[in-house]
Amino acid sequence: MEKAVRILDESGYNVALTGAGLSAELGLPIYRGASGGAAETISLLSREGWERDPVFIWRYYLDIYRRSRGAERKGGYHHLHRLVEAGVIHAIITVNIDGLHKRFLNDPEYPLVELHGSVDKAVCTACGYTSPIEKLDTGTLPPRCPRCGAPMRPRVVLRGERIRTRDLVRAIIEAETAEAMIIAGFSGSVAPANMLPLLTHRRGGWLIIVDPSPTPYTRLEHVVWIPLTAEKAFRMLAQRLI
Ligand SMILES: [Zn+2]
Repeated sequence: MEKAVRILDESGYNVALTGAGLSAELGLPIYRGASGGAAETISLLSREGWERDPVFIWRYYLDIYRRSRGAERKGGYHHLHRLVEAGVIHAIITVNIDGLHKRFLNDPEYPLVELHGSVDKAVCTACGYTSPIEKLDTGTLPPRCPRCGAPMRPRVVLRGERIRTRDLVRAIIEAETAEAMIIAGFSGSVAPANMLPLLTHRRGGWLIIVDPSPTPYTRLEHVVWIPLTAEKAFRMLAQRLI
């Protein structure tokens, strides 16, 4: 812990990479099926699933949208965001699609990369028009595009789909700029997000792993592993760094 404090204090640019473990602390489900989901659900949250059953996909993501709208800023999110507000964490990359960083931070200027998109927006499958979910009529699924009438879909990256180039480029730039990357609730099982820590590491940056269990990164050199939950780890870091 003391080593992590010293690294974050001395580094000029700290990036956080967050995953499902952070949202699981708030009682929100584990997304995109890396673990903890029924096999049938996992297989439907995919490009093929969208073709087969778009209503299922809409119901699934609308449920996450509604639950995350009701979530309070607490746990690891709360203490991590205190570090952001204190200027200790300079950017966040997340694979979570619940939009919680954006909503809790409430700062459109903050460098936040939602690598797999976010459930709070939908995009037209024909013309690309993007809209906040709250402005769409979701009484009938899938909702129709206000511009062209084609079906809209949640703006999330389903399994088998590519990450938007703009988001991937922003994430790569953040990872390459980071002198330290703190990785929380992210098991490293999702590509290409799991390559981002290696970009930081290869350029001589420190990795700080917050996870009660070992991850693929904890075996590397030049890595500090804090084997605690995100809530405990970020609370302790905030106590020492703010
Ligand atoms: Zn359209």
